[in-house]
Amino acid sequence: MRIDLHTHSNVSDGTGTPAQVMRDAAAAGLDVVALTDHDSVDGWEEAAAEAARLGLRFVPGIEVSAKDRWVSIHMLAYWPRPDDAALAEILALTREARVGRAQSMVERIAVEYPLEWEDVVRQSGEAATVGRPHIADALVERGHFATRGEVFDAILHNRSPFYVHHHAPDVHDAVRAIRAAGGVPVFAHPGAHARGRVVPDAVIASLAEAGLAGLEVDHRDHDEEARARLAGLAARYGLVQTGSSDYHGTGKLNLLGENLTTVEAFEALEAQRT
Ligand code: AMP
Ligand code: FE
Ligand code: FE
Ligand code: ZN
Repeated sequence: MRIDLHTHSNVSDGTGTPAQVMRDAAAAGLDVVALTDHDSVDGWEEAAAEAARLGLRFVPGIEVSAKDRWVSIHMLAYWPRPDDAALAEILALTREARVGRAQSMVERIAVEYPLEWEDVVRQSGEAATVGRPHIADALVERGHFATRGEVFDAILHNRSPFYVHHHAPDVHDAVRAIRAAGGVPVFAHPGAHARGRVVPDAVIASLAEAGLAGLEVDHRDHDEEARARLAGLAARYGLVQTGSSDYHGTGKLNLLGENLTTVEAFEALEAQRT
């Protein structure tokens, strides 16, 4: 069984439609795939229909933006009820905040690189959730850089003077909201220190207390040391260990199935669905 529980479509910052992501997943030989767009459930219906057609098991997910004090955190949520009002409200607030934040970043960037908000709007297109990758695409289209990755390395990373934060819920509140919506929360790439600060062990402990179900241990952004630390924390707090690709279509190098989740881990998550 090949199980990949973290992918993005053009509902957020992936490059393929939800149906295309499912076709890519089938072509990569996956048996189970989750669509986990940032802060939106808009891709679920289309993905579920295409997955059914392909004989692929579809898992509806969200990558919920959150924070612990000033540290940005991504919390995966599997099987939450999409009509849960409290969770929907959290996601709507974040999506709205992301627009103002992207506009602020564009204002700062435009001082040095000719760029207009309309360029970003053209790149994000129908996306429900706007993110830095859309700004990157606009700068690539303008000819300032060659790839998304180059733009991130040069000016979009978290320590860049052009970087602006956006509102996001406290991660403990996010975990409780996901559980209240019947979902199963798994901390995405908790040890990806190249992206910015990572949370200390004590925060994993308090999240376990708040209802965290698992840790995404096997992820491209984790070195051996991070994986060992996270596996230790998972064992200590009784958390499920997952592995996933974080596929973004052609927007990132991540390949579907490059990290996988075991059947046992998947079943342990599914058993927590309410
Ligand atoms: P945001 O959610 O707007 O803060 O942007 C973060 C997103 O940017 C992540 O979810 C990734 O999809 C993307 N990202 C981060 N670093 C890179 C990179 N080096 N190359 C391409 N995409 C990246
Ligand atoms: Fe992303
Ligand atoms: Fe993420
Ligand atoms: Zn992701």
